[in-house]
Amino acid sequence: MQIITSVSEMQTLASSLHAQGRTIALVPTMGALHAGHVSLVTTAVGRAECVVVSIFVNPTQFSPNEDFNKYPRELEADIAKCEAAGAHVIFAPPADQIYPKGYSTYITEEFIARPLEGVSRPSHFRGVTTVVAKLFNICRPDVAVFGQKDAQQVAVIKKMIVDLNFTVAIVVAPTLREADGLAMSSRNRYLSVTQRQEALAISRALFKARDMVASGERRADRLVAEATHILSQHRRIRVIYVSMVDADTMEPQREVISGRALMAIAVWMEDVRLIDNIVL
Ligand code: AMP
Repeated sequence: MQIITSVSEMQTLASSLHAQGRTIALVPTMGALHAGHVSLVTTAVGRAECVVVSIFVNPTQFSPNEDFNKYPRELEADIAKCEAAGAHVIFAPPADQIYPKGYSTYITEEFIARPLEGVSRPSHFRGVTTVVAKLFNICRPDVAVFGQKDAQQVAVIKKMIVDLNFTVAIVVAPTLREADGLAMSSRNRYLSVTQRQEALAISRALFKARDMVASGERRADRLVAEATHILSQHRRIRVIYVSMVDADTMEPQREVISGRALMAIAVWMEDVRLIDNIVL
């Protein structure tokens, strides 16, 4: 496995792979890899001849008051996990390779990025779309793998690809969960034992909605009310949103249309921000 830290070296490799007619899959991550990330790498392995995992804690997707500085960084362990999962290249540039001094160009998607995460993290998706567009130009993937865990991110990136005429195909991998239901996240390591126990209310709320839909409930207001009720039993949880939206556009839905409706939840578990979702 090759480890590349320079943009020009990554671009040279991508060009030479394409010149040989070989395909490239990209798995963008911020590192501190868990089994959910590894499942994205495994998904990528079957889909292209060269699998590139990018590891970059992207400063532009964090607001000044967020956890950029304390975000976990563990490159050595990440490299071992990627190698074991069958990746061929790690692209782990330093911040000044991606944002050199004087950097001033940003990409904003202006519709899907507005609700949900966009309300409480107004500059977040501008950072995501900018870095993903740059990673597409640097790594030149034929296919890129993203996790359903960040459903709004998937929808925003798909829209960016259409709007900006990128030719990369997107594969969305299912959310990997701990045995008790908690969605895997690099931020779970911030949770104390008690907080982690209470955080189970998030997946419980989503699974309850799924069960209600299986029993015939279609009204979004009833599903959202029940999920909010489950979350509100926990005094450490502060609900940021519980929403029923269209999975592609993130527009609010009144009725569940099977396979299209997404219940999305964001909470503060004291000082840790957690998100999760389910397609109903
Ligand atoms: P991050 O490092 O948090 O930016 O995540 C990198 C990629 O991994 C994104 O496409 C995420 O959606 C995906 N991801 C994060 N958590 C999970 C999970 N529990 N299951 C599957 N994919 C995930």
